Amino acid sequence: MSVTSTPVFLDDRLWAERVFNGDWVPALGGGQTVIEPATGAPLSLAGNANAADINRACREAAGAQRQWAATGPRERAAVFRTAAAQAEAHFAELALYVARETGAALFKGEHEVREAIVLLHQAAGLLAQPHGLVLPSAAGRLSYARRQPHGVVGVISPFNFPLVLSLRSVAPALAAGNAVVLKPDPQTPVSGGYLIARLFEHAGLPKGLLHVLPGGAEAGEALCSDPSVKMIAFTGSTGAGRKVAEVAGKHLKKVALELGGKNSLIVLEDADLDLAASNAAWGAWLHQGQICMATGRILVHESIADALIARLVAKARALTVGNAARGEAALGPLINARQLRRVQDIVESSIEAGARLEAGGESHGLCYLPTVLSGVMPGMRAFDEEIFGPVATVVTFATDEEAIRLANHTEYGLSAAVISPSIGRAMAIGEQLQCGLLHINDQTVADECINPFGGRGNSGNGGSVGGPADWDEYTQWQWVTVKDAPPAYPF
Ligand code: NAD
Repeated sequence: MSVTSTPVFLDDRLWAERVFNGDWVPALGGGQTVIEPATGAPLSLAGNANAADINRACREAAGAQRQWAATGPRERAAVFRTAAAQAEAHFAELALYVARETGAALFKGEHEVREAIVLLHQAAGLLAQPHGLVLPSAAGRLSYARRQPHGVVGVISPFNFPLVLSLRSVAPALAAGNAVVLKPDPQTPVSGGYLIARLFEHAGLPKGLLHVLPGGAEAGEALCSDPSVKMIAFTGSTGAGRKVAEVAGKHLKKVALELGGKNSLIVLEDADLDLAASNAAWGAWLHQGQICMATGRILVHESIADALIARLVAKARALTVGNAARGEAALGPLINARQLRRVQDIVESSIEAGARLEAGGESHGLCYLPTVLSGVMPGMRAFDEEIFGPVATVVTFATDEEAIRLANHTEYGLSAAVISPSIGRAMAIGEQLQCGLLHINDQTVADECINPFGGRGNSGNGGSVGGPADWDEYTQWQWVTVKDAPPAYPF
């Protein structure tokens, strides 16, 4: 069941019912078949880790970590550069696999692999940066603070952008001298896990430092409660994040949470309508809306709403759905039938509550047609909830104050955007939006992996991955003082 007829790199015989600990070992929890969402056919047989697998991995990781932390920065950095070279060498194979496993268009698979290469180079670059600070202190005393790894970091990642969302934690955590136990989503165990294992296996990462164990909530909870794990980096839904924080809190672990979003794109009345429609469509429908930063609300000035809706409807009707990884359609399927039903329920319940269906609203297999809902208001599910489906939800406003109020009418706080040629006015609106990412004259889906990324409120505990945030997240400070001789104290 290999993805390519001549598998070079992602040979799925390696991980049949197995987990990775540096070697490919049988999973105590057995195996599970991975289904390709676009075809409904089996794609691979993965390991299905249980709590015992996780506990074993955490013990082994703790055993391997000290020696890694003591390894010189040049040697550590070389591992990441070699892993990046591996990803470059196998680019086409990796991109197609990611696209197929996630039900995405090929360009999305390519995007993930390109970002993975950047993340690996960035991890190598971390090791050329200062690791601490010399502090002012009493005469004759050297005082400094240095960054030290936590020990073992547990990483839990979702299905939608599995390669990037796993690696954005795995790479800096390892670079900073930690060992990592990675639990990808069981629907995307290769893109979110085994692929990364293969890169580091080929790059010569010492055994025991990276463990990859696909599994469900039971495995995730075992990771959060394992005594060897000192930090959890979680990306996923707000509901699961809450449970992760509870368990990690009980065991006094550091926890970084990157959660859901309900992100507003505000279109002012002086916006170029064609560009605004293109931004809104991309933000709402890219990867079928299965993105935490997806444009979940299009807030448009009432004077241009009809014109914007007409453009969105034309775009929705022009977009095809199907096997996007094979280039047969613009948009692919949703990840599974449960998620499809949820999207259908949200759209139907919003229509019953008074929203108008302007386009879409139908499914073909797991594909949901790009959909436009207008007349959406607070209290409707399409306004209130993260949909995670290709639904453009149009809400009108009359004044800037109303637009700000509507955008902030949510417990989430991930991304927001404003479109207008009046930059000063757009920035003044942006200043008042509750969000961790703000884009003036762009849509809400944007991440460059060198920026501190993260949300507020129900979107997470914020700014915790990327660029300068990586040192802060994956290390802790140790204060050290040194004197020539101990001082004499009064008693
Ligand atoms: P999910 O929460 O169902 O699953 C995410 C991961 O958590 C999976 O690996 C899953 O197995 C694991 N998990 C589930 N329950 C758990 C528990 N009790 N303890 C430990 N682990 C558990 O999320 P999903 O449906 O896969 O992903 C979609 C959600 O993720 C959306 O809400 C989306 O907005 C969010 N997301 C956020 C970001 C971000 O950076 N803020 C990025 C991508 C996705």
